[in-house]
Amino acid sequence: MSWENNVRKVIPYVPGEQPTGDVIKLNTNENPYPPSPRVKKVLAEFDIDTLRKYPDVYGGTLQAKLSEVYGIDKDKVFVGVGSDDVLATAFLTFFNSDKPIIFPDVTYSFYDVWADLYNIPYEVIPLKDDFRIDREDYIRDNGGIVIPNPNAPTGALKSVEDLEYIISNNSDSIVIIDEAYIDFGGKSVLPLIDKYDNLLVVQTFSKSRSMAGVRIGMAFGCKALIKYLNDVKFSINSYTINKLTEAAGTAALEDEAYFKETVAKVIATRERVKPILKQLGFDFPDSASNFVFATHDTVPAEEIFTSLKERGIYVRWWNKPRISNHLRISIGADEEMDELINALKEITTR
Ligand SMILES: *Cc1c(COP(=O)(O)O)cnc(C)c1O
Repeated sequence: MSWENNVRKVIPYVPGEQPTGDVIKLNTNENPYPPSPRVKKVLAEFDIDTLRKYPDVYGGTLQAKLSEVYGIDKDKVFVGVGSDDVLATAFLTFFNSDKPIIFPDVTYSFYDVWADLYNIPYEVIPLKDDFRIDREDYIRDNGGIVIPNPNAPTGALKSVEDLEYIISNNSDSIVIIDEAYIDFGGKSVLPLIDKYDNLLVVQTFSKSRSMAGVRIGMAFGCKALIKYLNDVKFSINSYTINKLTEAAGTAALEDEAYFKETVAKVIATRERVKPILKQLGFDFPDSASNFVFATHDTVPAEEIFTSLKERGIYVRWWNKPRISNHLRISIGADEEMDELINALKEITTR
């Protein structure tokens, strides 16, 4: 089978399980609350006849509404099919150097997959022993930088000051800050896009806006960056944002009160659960996201993972260096977290 020699072979990203049925799902950082009622209304009233036509290539009303809500010019806003699409396009566009791009060793496990796919050389920078990012580690020769803030799966937040230090000392590279979880209590670097033309900020509707199933992600950056990003996108697929997505996303942005209310609920639950987990013998970096990355002082993570699964509670566990004794537990609704805590009490005291 000689054709196989010419196949692009990749080791794909492994997404979290999507079990069906009556389970408590705390494994993929989805929001426990539904999208705004406005989304339901807009989709119910959607004019199906308009699906005959192609959608707007920039996301139309969704791009315009993002521009309005975030107070950023439309030509500094890029919309994609979830932030995975935005990040994949950004890797392809901006990471085109012979020098390695750099990112943390413990981080979003998609980065090395895209780097391998596009033949981008990369080096991972080890986090400190307490899973902290040291800004000095990012002051070195590189072909680009990507850092999630808060980091995933650790949940640890960097200050705007530390990130600005990295961005300003790397003016010859594009620095991508992946802010998938920034709405859960962190401070965004978004205002810095007007100061640094090498900064791309990526966010998503999947976590804080309860719309993982709709697939909306966005990037903010200077005009030139967004133009380069669009050039690559138009070289693959012009019509990425379908009309239903455009309508649903726009409707969600029209209900900032609901967004703030549900995010506040998730944060309140997270803060309530933190001391309880500590009492049960768990340790974790302080989380500014909608998950905690916890290790237990006596029971191995794999055992807890398996025991929880037997009880219909799904969390995330990776059999990888440095983190194989940790579990990433998404913050669900209060009742879900109570069931988790009861199960953890049984598992960790037997
Ligand atoms: C969830 C996540 C994403 C991607 O989310 P989308 O659903 O594709 O928007 C990107 N980066 C990090 C760090 C994430 O955790």
